[in-house]
Amino acid sequence: MIASLLVTPDDIDVSWADIAGLDAVVNELRESVVMPVRHRDLFSRSQLCQAPKGVLLHGPPGCGKTLIAKAIAKDAGMRFINLDVSVLKDKWYGESLKLASAVFTLAQKLEPCIIFIDEIESFLRVRGSGDHEATAMMKTQFMIRWDGLISNANACVLVLGATNRPQDLDKAILRRMSLQFYIEAPRDCQRLEILQLILQSEQLHPSVNLKELARLATGFSGSDLRELCRHAFICRMRQIMRGRNQTESESELGLAKTESEEEFKDCE
Ligand code: ATP
Repeated sequence: MIASLLVTPDDIDVSWADIAGLDAVVNELRESVVMPVRHRDLFSRSQLCQAPKGVLLHGPPGCGKTLIAKAIAKDAGMRFINLDVSVLKDKWYGESLKLASAVFTLAQKLEPCIIFIDEIESFLRVRGSGDHEATAMMKTQFMIRWDGLISNANACVLVLGATNRPQDLDKAILRRMSLQFYIEAPRDCQRLEILQLILQSEQLHPSVNLKELARLATGFSGSDLRELCRHAFICRMRQIMRGRNQTESESELGLAKTESEEEFKDCE
């Protein structure tokens, strides 16, 4: 069951080229997370800079945290266990303990490996906040195994968490996240870069001004921008379909004069 959430680097369909507008944070991540894994032979000679065992990506929803997590795994050549927290929580008492432990055992067997936990605050939130006893024990088990990893200099397993609500995370968890990165909502120029990336292989009408669009889309996340472009595409298709249906009915009545290319013009 856990293995079904496992992805090898070759199967990961995201690379840094799929992420726009986050150059500064991407460069930092490549230097502090990817490089020590890719060049373990060099980095293991020093205690100063080791491959991190806990990294937190936090920031507003839809701004690239999951994309970044996958790009790290791809670039570093790490296997990727996408830990579905709801699966752990749904298990019977005792089962979830074994599962939490099994995730670490599997990750260590497969290293270099990332254990990715999206919405990590829903699993490892501040203790004493109404947790069921089984959840509290699972958390403790998770931390014990994580600590084992941290104290093992040779282990190459990274717990990578993503959250929109870092304030809800247990302080003990934050301490284990030696590196924390804020993935910010895109500003004007970053939104332009994201739009350019999303639309790079689309045919745009010459009147489309992406710079203006980026300016108007204040407050939009990368995910919102993708949705906006998808919606615009569907609207355009609807217009074309309407034009086609009209021509078809006109031709049935013997009235059609326009070529299909002309229909395109009408819809612009
Ligand atoms: P959540 O907090 O809701 O889990 P997230 O921060 O993990 O969101 P992603 O899942 O990484 O966001 O992004 C969702 C989608 O939005 C991506 O698949 C991509 O299409 C688009 N997107 C978001 N940010 C960017 C970006 N910086 N560059 C390119 N595409 C982006």
